[in-house]
Amino acid sequence: MTSAPPRPTSLPAPLQSAGDLAIAGVEPFSACDWPGHLAAVVFLQGCPWKCTYCHNVSIIDPRAPGQVAWSAVRELLSARRGLLDAVVFSGGEPTRQGGLADAMRQVRGMGFAVGLHTGGAYPRRLAEVLPLVDWVGLDIKAPVGKYSAVTGVANSADPAFASLRHVLDAGVPVQVRTTLDPTILNADDVAEIRRTVTALGVTDVVVQEVRTDGASEAFVTSLARYRRTHPAAPAAPAG
Ligand code: SF4
Repeated sequence: MTSAPPRPTSLPAPLQSAGDLAIAGVEPFSACDWPGHLAAVVFLQGCPWKCTYCHNVSIIDPRAPGQVAWSAVRELLSARRGLLDAVVFSGGEPTRQGGLADAMRQVRGMGFAVGLHTGGAYPRRLAEVLPLVDWVGLDIKAPVGKYSAVTGVANSADPAFASLRHVLDAGVPVQVRTTLDPTILNADDVAEIRRTVTALGVTDVVVQEVRTDGASEAFVTSLARYRRTHPAAPAAPAG
């Protein structure tokens, strides 16, 4: 008599398709989201972090439903063949959603290059999709010791740097971006980030000026207070 196979203690997660994506919005034409490319940008809903300066606060709630169907994104891309050469998945945090790989596969099948903006919160999923990605814009938000002050989440430097290592190991071109929130970071911090990522092998590092459009009222107030009390504070150094 053969014994019954052991019962699985948990079911495998169902495979998610592009149709399952919660899409917050689409920018049909952008020349600045992937340097040197004309891209449509697909903003995916939800992010696990709460960065001080986030200018997409309306799309970080992971429970909020999508506003655009994937089928509408495909229609838009079909109509723009020959006008665009790429699609950038952005957010929110695009690697949060399981349908990302399928969406990237479909986009590549339509003949577009694939770009990805990420903060690196989900290194495992990032590693899974990297074979489908032609370029990554990865945020490194702070030196390790100040990471959670920017993201509002403890230990968030760990997944971010693990993600950077995945990207470098995969050999995918990467631009590391740091947004200079002067209420938290100073010039030494920016220099430390640059030193750290350069030592890891990054050659493209950009420091961005913080913006207040779309940011929370609390951040706008605290930045205004900071600027009043530090009128000579330097702007972001050139990238
Ligand atoms: S990782 Fe990006 S989308 Fe998420 S809270 Fe930070 S700035 Fe906003």
